[in-house]
Amino acid sequence: MLKKLFKSFRLSLNRSHPRSTPEVLGGQQHSLRRNDISRHAVNVVERLQNAGYQAYVVGGCVRDLLLDIEPKDFDVATSATPEQVRAEFRNARVIGRRFKLVHVHFGREIIEVATFRAHHPEDDEDDEDSHLSARHESGRILRDNVYGSLEEDAQRRDFTINALYFDVTRERILDYAHGVHDIRNHLIRLIGDPEQRYQEDPVRMLRAVRFAAKLDFDIEKHSAAPISRLAPLLRDIPAPRLFEEVLKLFLSGYAEDTFELLLEHDLFAPLFPASAAALERNPGYVGRLIRQALANTDERIAQGKTVTPAFLFAALLWPALPARVLALQERGMPPIPAMQEAAHLVITEQCRRTAIPKRFTLPAREIWDLQERLPRRQGKRADLLLEHPRFRAGYDFLLLREEAGEQTGGLGDWWTDYQEASDSERRSMIRALAGKDDTGGAPRKRRRSGGRRQRGSGANGD
Ligand code: ATP
Ligand code: MG
Repeated sequence: MLKKLFKSFRLSLNRSHPRSTPEVLGGQQHSLRRNDISRHAVNVVERLQNAGYQAYVVGGCVRDLLLDIEPKDFDVATSATPEQVRAEFRNARVIGRRFKLVHVHFGREIIEVATFRAHHPEDDEDDEDSHLSARHESGRILRDNVYGSLEEDAQRRDFTINALYFDVTRERILDYAHGVHDIRNHLIRLIGDPEQRYQEDPVRMLRAVRFAAKLDFDIEKHSAAPISRLAPLLRDIPAPRLFEEVLKLFLSGYAEDTFELLLEHDLFAPLFPASAAALERNPGYVGRLIRQALANTDERIAQGKTVTPAFLFAALLWPALPARVLALQERGMPPIPAMQEAAHLVITEQCRRTAIPKRFTLPAREIWDLQERLPRRQGKRADLLLEHPRFRAGYDFLLLREEAGEQTGGLGDWWTDYQEASDSERRSMIRALAGKDDTGGAPRKRRRSGGRRQRGSGANGD
């Protein structure tokens, strides 16, 4: 009993930050205007209001607009249930497993509409029915479809800067958690007790880091402090969800900074255990390879070019291969099968953490296979490789390895020249290879002697 009293006292203290009446900022106190909001989002809000529901533009788009960043998308929060929302719009679909949401489609734009939700009631230790609760024993919330009031919706959001509601009709901002203050001070701060909020949903640790990198904010010290200790909780998160989060971490244009923050807060190892171990063993080379891959990704995104998760995963996991290859070779497996088996093992293990779909693991493996083939250029091989559908990715990957310091005997330059050369120049480039060791040009009859097909610098690292 006393324990319970104390617990609720502690919680109410820790939750002193959010409040039940919002600070209301009128048009003179902030820069956000109705015209800044996507007209489709305004349309959704107004139709819901006309139908008698409360509705606000909320979350990342309000935050981003206050910071002069173009929002990725617009989210709406409403008192209408998903079914009620769907009934209002012809072009609406209910989606979501963990959370039920409604997507309202306007051509290519999707407005995401979420019903106000409440925090889950605290698990009652004396409750006979606690097995029915929606919490895991670690405190993690497994289901979260308990609807609530606007105030409750604000309290259950993750960070203060994400809990701002914009009233498009009156151009007011409702601020329940001092989010505007934190935006001004460039701080990522959890609403409520940080430890408890991370335990409810450990992915919030990744979100803290992602927003810190994207917005160039600091993580407020009480929100930052527990992360390293709680980082292992990420191991319990379903692998498909972590895969989605990893894409957001590394494909949003701030991957390089995100990676540094992940390392700083011990969040990289639970996501990529084998890569983290390789980084520890060989920080120079592995650090350069990963950082360079992420820097290239950020640059491509900044230039509006496409990026593929396959290349990213190929790079992040490449450093984990050599140790595996070595272990298999020590057990007597020949180099080529050892390489294949190591690739298979590394990917299978990684998929237990982040469920990478086949459409990305297959091309990632092709990129790796090409690293074995690019040194072997004799005869028609070089021309056949140029025709390979993944040649470009394989070649880019080779350059990445070289930038990280792998010794390849100038293979990247050779391929750069070869692509630009005329037919006759190409023929002489191939002739000039004759007799060189790592070209794979050894006569066929040597094939069975075991001395053929060096692995090149392959996965050897430094
Ligand atoms: P961006 O879309 O730029 O990545 P965002 O803040 O809009 O950022 P979303 O993932 O789209 O992020 O989520 C929308 C809103 O839902 C957030 O602003 C936050 O208020 C709330 N939210 C999302 N994920 C969580 C979570 N794990 N715990 C609590 N609230 C969350
Ligand atoms: Mg969003």
